[in-house]
Amino acid sequence: MHLKKIEMHGFKSFAEEVKVEFEPNITAVLGPNGSGKSNIADAIRWVLGEQSAKSLRGSKMEDVIFAGSSQRKPMGIAEVTLTLDNSNGQLPIDYNEVTLGRRVTRSGKSEYLINNSVCRLKDIEELIMGTGLGTEAYSIIGQGKVDEILSSKATERRLIFEEAAGITKHKQRKKEASRK
Ligand code: ATP
Ligand code: MG
Repeated sequence: MHLKKIEMHGFKSFAEEVKVEFEPNITAVLGPNGSGKSNIADAIRWVLGEQSAKSLRGSKMEDVIFAGSSQRKPMGIAEVTLTLDNSNGQLPIDYNEVTLGRRVTRSGKSEYLINNSVCRLKDIEELIMGTGLGTEAYSIIGQGKVDEILSSKATERRLIFEEAAGITKHKQRKKEASRK
């Protein structure tokens, strides 16, 4: 799954609209301490549905909105859009390019979007299930994640292999069907 582009507006330190484009192959993000490198990774996890403000290094969800600086007023809304290459059809949606978005306002209004249409978080989760992209999956290996995988119980480690094998989706559907 190739992440082609991230657009951030009002997210954490990115007050101006910031667009980061990724070529295929390896991209490294370099910058001084506090320049916003980790905020880019936070932005990705946020769009994919991260619900824990703490794991986004804040204390409440509002902390993802640009809080202002000596030169700039605080903003009222944070918005992030990811553009994914879907030319191999890995995502079950009939578009070569898929955008996933999330925005939140200070008043707490929150929206998720697929291809610019408002959707539920569940729709995003279902779309990316089995691709390794989810917040709990393996496409984002944060600090400590490798240790966590190595020291986890066999049953927990199994979930990672199930996601990689693309069967999480089917297990989830089975679970939902048996609940009805
Ligand atoms: P390091 O090299 O130390 O890991 P980094 O490049 O990863 O640094 P980040 O942690 O991404 O840096 O960025 C931290 C910066 O983002 C801090 O200066 C912090 O003030 C700023 N920041 C975080 N949240 C907000 C917010 N809501 N509004 C404005 N600035 C914010
Ligand atoms: Mg960092």
